[in-house]
Amino acid sequence: MKNIPSPSGERLPVEILGATGMVGQHLITRLTEHPWFRIEALKASERSAGKRYGDTVDWALPQPIPRDIAQMEVLACEPSLPGRIALSGLDADIAGPIEEQFAEFGYPVVSNARNHRFDPDVPLLIPEVNRDHLAIIAHQRFAVGCIITNPNCSTVGITMALKPLQDAFGVEAADIVTLQAASGAGNRPGVSSLRLIDNTIPFIAGEEEKIQTEPKKILGTYRDGVIRPAEMAISAQCNRVPVRDGHTACVKVALRTRASLESVMAAFESYGSPLKELELPSAPDHPLIVHHHPAHPQPYFHRDLEDGMAASVGRIQPCGVLDYKFVVLSHNTVRGAAGAAILNAELLVRTALSQAIR
Ligand code: NAP
Repeated sequence: MKNIPSPSGERLPVEILGATGMVGQHLITRLTEHPWFRIEALKASERSAGKRYGDTVDWALPQPIPRDIAQMEVLACEPSLPGRIALSGLDADIAGPIEEQFAEFGYPVVSNARNHRFDPDVPLLIPEVNRDHLAIIAHQRFAVGCIITNPNCSTVGITMALKPLQDAFGVEAADIVTLQAASGAGNRPGVSSLRLIDNTIPFIAGEEEKIQTEPKKILGTYRDGVIRPAEMAISAQCNRVPVRDGHTACVKVALRTRASLESVMAAFESYGSPLKELELPSAPDHPLIVHHHPAHPQPYFHRDLEDGMAASVGRIQPCGVLDYKFVVLSHNTVRGAAGAAILNAELLVRTALSQAIR
């Protein structure tokens, strides 16, 4: 993370909703040293509320729990101070109404959960891909607060890889097979080791539908308060595999215009960060890293590139069924969750589009 001074000169207070979960833990780790934000409150379910964070969390990261965080009391998931940014890693079963309640109370809410991703006035954001969609929050019904969302943890890497192809040639269809890490299933209880070791599971509830719909909204066009989804056919099959972190996707694409392998490679290679001038601490300098080794990218070696915020693309080849095929890898709990939410919050602060933080 880059040590860029905050626009206001102060570290803004943020609350973490779902602070005890997998995403919540990554949020804490990434926010502890964040130059623009400081953690003001940790919120979770009734079973954690009232306890010391260090006593109730089932910490699952290699970094130790920051000492001051371990001492904090976990609070119930209720809004208390309008104007604070809420970063939500809430379980999707309950996130919808809670996030709305916070937005109604005046919080800018940055959510990892699926619940509001398809609300017509809620942006589904990847700042490098569709930051113009953020303007739609002006059309939300909340007087002061707002809700912005980041995509599903596989969608993010896949869509970052589709973006240069969509811009250069148009994407007519994508056929996607994912190999998804265990951490994507959350922490309590998460996926059972007995089910996953020596195994792959060819089903992840709701995941195929998300990958088949979310890229179309993200790659869609924004005008006059309306996001029109991109027209493309997407088919997805999702597998849980015994990898700790890092979702891989094998993608075949049909392009709208004819393209040589060299021009497809060039489209990937020349995809630089469109966020440079905004100077956001979590924005990677190279959001898409192209690998030329025939056995790359791999989760163990490449998920942490650019502090976990880059997507890695490799195995770019002509395809005997559609036009081209490639493999894309991204860190599911960083680029696919906590890092993405923090980057969205940085964009919100930098562009000051939310009334609450003006
Ligand atoms: P998780 O480990 O199961 O954590 C869920 C969190 O929600 C915990 O802090 C839990 O608190 C809290 N919670 C549960 N019920 C609650 C209630 N009734 N009231 C208030 N808080 C409640 O899940 P996760 O993997 O971190 O995922 C969090 C969200 O991000 C989900 O919507 C998920 O789909 C999404 N997401 C996850 C990933 C990933 O790679 N893991 C990636 C992208 C998006 P307690 O501990 O107190 O129960």
